[in-house]
Amino acid sequence: AEEMVRKSELLSVVGQMAAGVAHEIRNPLTSLKGFVQLLQSDANGNEEYFRIMLSELNRIEFIISEFLVLAKPQVVFYQRREIRPLLDDIIMLARTQAIMHNIEIVTLCPPQLPAVMCDENQLKQVFLNLMKNAIESMPDGGVVTVAARQEGGRLHICFTDQGCGIPEELLDRLGEPFFTTKKAGTGLGLMVSYKIVAQHGGDIKVNSRIGEGTSFEVQLPT
Ligand code: ADP
Ligand code: MG
Repeated sequence: AEEMVRKSELLSVVGQMAAGVAHEIRNPLTSLKGFVQLLQSDANGNEEYFRIMLSELNRIEFIISEFLVLAKPQVVFYQRREIRPLLDDIIMLARTQAIMHNIEIVTLCPPQLPAVMCDENQLKQVFLNLMKNAIESMPDGGVVTVAARQEGGRLHICFTDQGCGIPEELLDRLGEPFFTTKKAGTGLGLMVSYKIVAQHGGDIKVNSRIGEGTSFEVQLPT
């Protein structure tokens, strides 16, 4: 419980910063990107430079948009939604990346799952983040299992991989802004995911074994 308190305090500080800074950065960034794109048509043999500039600008834009999820006030749009079609959507989105990395996605879901009150786009973002992390944990391929079940008043959605696992001493740091062990990671995916799930009145539980795999379980009230 102490850990939960510490994390939510951290989130509110980061959230306040994000609210101020992210909005301010976004506008000049958009105009910068527009002009780079404009000049690209006249690149004169410098196409590679322009490609790099745009890809770096896209990365900044991505980080800003992740941060904006934390910004308050936030427009969240809660509706009663079936979870199965939502999961199917993100599995389809992840499939291309999965195939490229020799990864099979297995779904274990009963045909009928209860609906939950949620902001559909935000939940999709959570599921995609967890799916992406699962895929990235298995550079040599493997299986990602997406399992959903109802238990008590809660819906449990579990993403299990057969990847590298997370060392015990790092478990506490999951969800910390910019905590990443990846070369090109942002360390924002889990922070955003924890925040969204908490706003939905839910929880994320982690189970991991080094060399065997990791399982992230999202629990949502139904
Ligand atoms: P990023 O993916 O950009 O590194 P995240 O917030 O999504 O940022 O994840 C933070 C860190 O948590 C990762 O860098 C990795 O060390 C660890 N992690 C998250 N999910 C998994 C997983 N399924 N298996 C192994 N490690 C993971
Ligand atoms: Mg990630």
